[in-house]
Amino acid sequence: YGTLYIVPTPIGNLEDITLRAIRILKEVDLIAAEDTRHTKKLLNHLGITTRLISYYREKEAQRGAQILDMLTEGKNIALVSDAGTPAISDPGSVLVRLAHEHGIPIVPLPGPSALISAMSASGFEQTGFLFHGFAPSKKGQRRKLLKSLKDCEYPVAFYESPHRIEGLLTDALEIFGNRKTLWARELTKTFEELEQSDLACLRKKAAEKKQKGEFVIIIQPGEKMAVKGESIEELINWYRDNSDL
Ligand code: SAM
Repeated sequence: YGTLYIVPTPIGNLEDITLRAIRILKEVDLIAAEDTRHTKKLLNHLGITTRLISYYREKEAQRGAQILDMLTEGKNIALVSDAGTPAISDPGSVLVRLAHEHGIPIVPLPGPSALISAMSASGFEQTGFLFHGFAPSKKGQRRKLLKSLKDCEYPVAFYESPHRIEGLLTDALEIFGNRKTLWARELTKTFEELEQSDLACLRKKAAEKKQKGEFVIIIQPGEKMAVKGESIEELINWYRDNSDL
């Protein structure tokens, strides 16, 4: 059997690709890409000439079966998406599942993901977090989802597009109340913007000006739900009280 490599690619800044990712993309027999034209630009930038085939959401099952055949024949294949880590709100899970079911070795490479960068910059207390990817675009479904997440005791992270950001923040404010929230826009890009504020301020900001770019929104749990150390002061006092020094 060949190996299926899962290879994260930059989410904006082309410097954000690991040495290992570059080597694997060079060495494999084939790269399965969400959009071959998009990935071709990255490969040209890196001077890589490996053959590309397309693997996109609408054809995941059909393409997955074809790629599985190639893996079974012994070909090594790298899976990439347009940006970030494949199979994280991106195509990939069908192929990965098929590979598991057929005993194909799977090697996931660590690398860029908008979720992890945003979460690391949130400053929110983290014994865990809940990642929902994109919230539904239909208002009714989105509100239903938010209601189901209201009592979650962990920060909740969403991916969002510029034309839906106001809708998400409006519904979240109404359903959650005015919680502390992180706005992470255009991470790693020229107009990167990171703002820790509250839902009311961020909703206002989104409503005032037509937004551009890509967003990660992370909402803190409600006060009663929050895990130990809701405020920094509380946490510092706790350490003082519990320290032997
Ligand atoms: N697989 C990707 C990852 O690992 O981050 C996510 C792909 S998903 C189709 C695209 C969404 O990810 C965007 O709509 C946005 O919510 C988020 N995203 C991707 N790049 C981003 C960036 N540079 N800054 C902020 N959010 C980003």
